[in-house]
Amino acid sequence: MNKEFSQRLSSTEALELVQKDIHYLGQLAYAKRKALHQNRAYYIYNQHLNYTNICKNKCKFCAYYKDKTDKNSYTFSLEDIKKEINKRIREPIREIHIVGGLNPDLPLSYYEEMLSTIKALRPEAVIKAFTAVEIHFLAEKHQLSEEEVLLRLKKAGLSILPGGGAEVFAEKLRKKLCPEKISGQKWLEIHAKAHKLGIYTNCTLLFGHIESWEDRIKHLEALRDLQDQTRGFLCFIPLAYQPAHNELKAPGPDGIDFLKMIALSRLFLDNIPHIKTYWAFAGLKLSQVALYFGADDFDGTIVEEKIGHAAGADTPKGLTVEELKTYIRQAGFEPVNRNSFFEEVKN
Ligand code: SF4
Repeated sequence: MNKEFSQRLSSTEALELVQKDIHYLGQLAYAKRKALHQNRAYYIYNQHLNYTNICKNKCKFCAYYKDKTDKNSYTFSLEDIKKEINKRIREPIREIHIVGGLNPDLPLSYYEEMLSTIKALRPEAVIKAFTAVEIHFLAEKHQLSEEEVLLRLKKAGLSILPGGGAEVFAEKLRKKLCPEKISGQKWLEIHAKAHKLGIYTNCTLLFGHIESWEDRIKHLEALRDLQDQTRGFLCFIPLAYQPAHNELKAPGPDGIDFLKMIALSRLFLDNIPHIKTYWAFAGLKLSQVALYFGADDFDGTIVEEKIGHAAGADTPKGLTVEELKTYIRQAGFEPVNRNSFFEEVKN
């Protein structure tokens, strides 16, 4: 870190940093990224599965959820899930990423069977599934503890929790953005419980809507504090708010805001090894630039991403591995094929 700032950034220093010129912030973040990951930019061969869009929470920023009575609502049966997995069974997929809405009609056994079915079809792939919001929903619905739910899902094949549902932790904002969602504190508690049970997780921040830099920095501080205790977070993903087709009507972050957020994340989260530029939300070209602002992970091939695209993301719904590698190489980095734990793999 530059001599002007402490080795570990305080919140005040972080706020000072984001007021500075973007080149300055970018240079600091790039130096940190280079020290940690040299010229490597990670990607993963993955598949997304959004099993239902029926959700009782109706978050204001969400363009994905539907009421059960809506003609566009859907829930995958186990047969549908098998079909989705089988469609790509010949591809060397390393990770299945599964998230969905809070559908009150689905019992815990549906989730367990979904995991065991996928595991039987794809034993070599890691299943990263269900946000803390879904875990809490299942625990409450079935009058189980969150630990019990996590253990049952782990037994059925779950390995990692994705980082969604964190949004922004500031309670006054959650009341406006997602009044029915679990609190920020509860999100953190569930991740702490998962870490204790040996389940790694990712973490996110939804930014570029009604929050301030102070709110963002407090959010990062809460993640850094938990990571100090558990060391269970693998990767941080700043998620750019997508402005279309939802009630919030905020404009979303511009390119400079996005790059500053990536850079600050790299500098502030000194104990989280990876920072992802999620190209499905941020765009491929901006994600190439983000590799110079602190990001080291380019996410994956994805295919069939539905949540960001429902909210107007105008990125492709998926890429081939060759396309992904080309974007990374053209940005001047070395593409590294990774598994869910960020270990290098050879196809
Ligand atoms: S963000 Fe998640 S919890 Fe909120 S309405 Fe959308 S699907 Fe439901």
